[in-house]
Amino acid sequence: METIMETTVVIAGGGPAGAMLGLLLARAGIDLVLLEKHADFFRDFRGDTIHPSTIQVLDELDLLDDFNAIPHREFASFGLYTGEEVVPLADFRGLPGRFRRLAMVPQWDFLKLITDAAGKHPNFRMMMETRAVGVIREGDAVRGVRAESDGRVTEIRAALTVAADGRQSDLRAAVGLKPVDIGAPMDVLWFRLPRHDGHPDDVFLRPGRGTALVSINRGDYWQMAYLIPKGGYDGLRARGIDAFRTGITGLLPYLDPSGLTFDDVRLLTVIVDRLPKWHLPGLLVIGDAAHAMSPIGGVGINLAIQDAIAAANLVTGPLQRAQANRRPVLDPVPGSLLAKLRRRRWYPTAATQAVQVQIQNRIIARVLAGDADAGAILAAARRIPPPVRHLMGRAIGLGFLPEHVRSSH
Ligand SMILES: Cc1cc2nc3c(=O)[nH]c(=O)nc-3n(C[C@H](O)[C@H](O)[C@H](O)COP(=O)(O)OP(=O)(O)OC[C@H]3O[C@@H](n4cnc5c(N)ncnc54)[C@H](O)[C@@H]3O)c2cc1C
Repeated sequence: METIMETTVVIAGGGPAGAMLGLLLARAGIDLVLLEKHADFFRDFRGDTIHPSTIQVLDELDLLDDFNAIPHREFASFGLYTGEEVVPLADFRGLPGRFRRLAMVPQWDFLKLITDAAGKHPNFRMMMETRAVGVIREGDAVRGVRAESDGRVTEIRAALTVAADGRQSDLRAAVGLKPVDIGAPMDVLWFRLPRHDGHPDDVFLRPGRGTALVSINRGDYWQMAYLIPKGGYDGLRARGIDAFRTGITGLLPYLDPSGLTFDDVRLLTVIVDRLPKWHLPGLLVIGDAAHAMSPIGGVGINLAIQDAIAAANLVTGPLQRAQANRRPVLDPVPGSLLAKLRRRRWYPTAATQAVQVQIQNRIIARVLAGDADAGAILAAARRIPPPVRHLMGRAIGLGFLPEHVRSSH
């Protein structure tokens, strides 16, 4: 027997996109239910980068003090490590506005900050360990979701259903929206290594022959990303853990991977894709569900949040009016309104992916194929003039179309 709930908005997915949209709508008085299939936010490493544009948004939401209270590290640039020094590639110091640093914040702390703020509004309801398993369709329109928790199914009817359920989106599949695969030449292995006094302080990429390593300073440990050719993990495992450890120390001799096993390594299969259509009447798709980003530049969280802000700016007014006039049963939000989100966010998404693809194909693919000489790459990086470093900083730090919170509260 199914339980039936009614609300104005149901969001599937408590990642950066869903949590931020939940907060923005909650503070505008919109009734909503946020579904998250996991029991908590404390999962594998999923990216830490909070960009200056997101910090600006936190300021607009009066959450900056709470954000600053979370222990985190900040960086004014990102660069290539030569073995002796870090050559900056992207420099955030020249950004317009007050925020000129990239913050590395564990994603679970960030999501807790956002959902705690949303939870202060009585019209916000979060259901953890609850998975959206399908949509309620009436003709062309989506009228809500069917959600499953502990073997029980709840039908949650809503004027707007939001698929913010990540790059393997269940809801996107349920309505038959298919992303176009743009492709990536690499996969990424994530693992931690101990960090000691005397190690470098920054966040950087160290290119090698056939691989490259990204090191993210997390205080007493390094969060490492080891780039491999796409589909190359089985081969790497077959060569054994000692060869893998040697590959690491060959690039960064000060690291100690002696305790590392393949059980400590998580494979990220890199996907770069984009949905041609982000909506149906009554349904919006945002964040990774609409466009999985390459890890280059660490922009996935930022873009997911920008989608959430643009979506909130688009639907808040109409939903407030609908709630005021037509409670409790609301009509689905029309497709003509929802289509505007993709029109607004297509350019920053496609432009970012285009830059990522250029870097993937021109540099990363050649490094991974062993065709590029790390010394030549480092020499080229040294020749990048400061204005180009500032432009890169702007593209990464602010993105191509930074959004600002407009929804009322
Ligand atoms: C290993 C790794 C490292 C990364 N590093 C970075 C980085 O450094 N910087 C960066 O900006 N980006 C990084 N990313 C990408 C970044 O994590 C994503 O772009 C970003 O999290 C997208 O946010 P989202 O809310 O759209 O989706 P997600 O973060 O994927 O959130 C989706 C949420 O939906 C939940 N969910 C899924 N299906 C359902 C369902 N049916 N019902 C209910 N809930 C559901 C999931 O549990 C999840 O919490 C990384 C990703 C990975 C995997």
